[in-house]
Amino acid sequence: MRAAVLFRERERLQVVDVDLAPPGPNEVRVRLAASGICASDWHTVTGAIPSPTPSVLGHEGAGIVDAVGDAVRSVAPGDHVVLCWAPNCGRCRYCEGGRPNLCSVAAPALLAGTLASGARRLTYRGQPLYHYSFLSTFAELVVVDEASCIPIRADVPLTVAALVGCAVTTGYGAVVNRAKVEPGSTVVVFGVGGVGLSAVMAASLSGAQQIVAVDPAPWKRELSLQVGATHAIDPHQVDVESFVRDLTGGEGTDVALEAAGRAELVALAFTVTRRAGTIVCVGVPSSGSTVALPGPDLVRHEKIVTGSLYGSCRPRADMPRILDLYASGRLPLDRLVTRTYQLDDVNTGFDDMLAGQLARGVITFGDWS
Ligand SMILES: [Zn+2]
Ligand SMILES: [Zn+2]
Repeated sequence: MRAAVLFRERERLQVVDVDLAPPGPNEVRVRLAASGICASDWHTVTGAIPSPTPSVLGHEGAGIVDAVGDAVRSVAPGDHVVLCWAPNCGRCRYCEGGRPNLCSVAAPALLAGTLASGARRLTYRGQPLYHYSFLSTFAELVVVDEASCIPIRADVPLTVAALVGCAVTTGYGAVVNRAKVEPGSTVVVFGVGGVGLSAVMAASLSGAQQIVAVDPAPWKRELSLQVGATHAIDPHQVDVESFVRDLTGGEGTDVALEAAGRAELVALAFTVTRRAGTIVCVGVPSSGSTVALPGPDLVRHEKIVTGSLYGSCRPRADMPRILDLYASGRLPLDRLVTRTYQLDDVNTGFDDMLAGQLARGVITFGDWS
């Protein structure tokens, strides 16, 4: 099968023929319909998010189950699935405690380059390749852990379902699961790419009264207004701190989300948030970066600063629910798909993403997605 391989950090991906071993007893083979291109993939190309090479990148996919191992019970061939990059064990303290995105088995091994079992199923000319984020969706087929397969309704486009595998769940869950945005509240979102736009949609659905999108790209600001933002500002033209202060009668926002992955924006998010408000960090800053916050205010203002990994999601509950909301017209997720690509054009997709042209670029496979 064809797959996009990162042979070494800082190189272009090469689309080559690779071999995929059959699924083990607890594994599933899925034929990809669509795979989104995420900034995390690019950060692995550059080395900012290290993961072993040579590897097949991609971690935001959806497709149709093609074959299952002997012990698999939760999916069968023909099922439509979203691929989940947090294949939780279901038994550790985090899984038991309702925080499966932080699973003791899966979370520490996310970038180890194997499936959750430690196995590898990909080879190129007889040499093993690493997986990426338990998935490797820049390929026509994947073999993944059963726990990575989230069954979904068959009547939603798999291009949209693919985005639920990373960006949508990350942004939606940060708002709904982590910040628990309340009706009437104010929400400021820094960075409105695929994750930030999903957060804007979720804040609107949650009844937020004022939703401020902050992004330098004019077309992203315009799109954010179309999907639920009430204000959209260019941080290079408008002073964000005074804008939010004026908008909220001097109080500050109830919730701020940092979805751009820039450490310095976390401090700005902290500044624009009211006392006892919540700052949710969603974008992953570069490896080794630190965030500086004003020490006295951290105590006196009782603000909550928290991360949110994968939208703090419970994938089997949240992903089908998100797609139900899409199907009923309440989350316009199709607006996130800016452009589609063939697998051979994956590097063009990265170029377009880096040029700021995409909410999401999506690789499609075949003509049935
Ligand atoms: Zn991602
Ligand atoms: Zn677990």
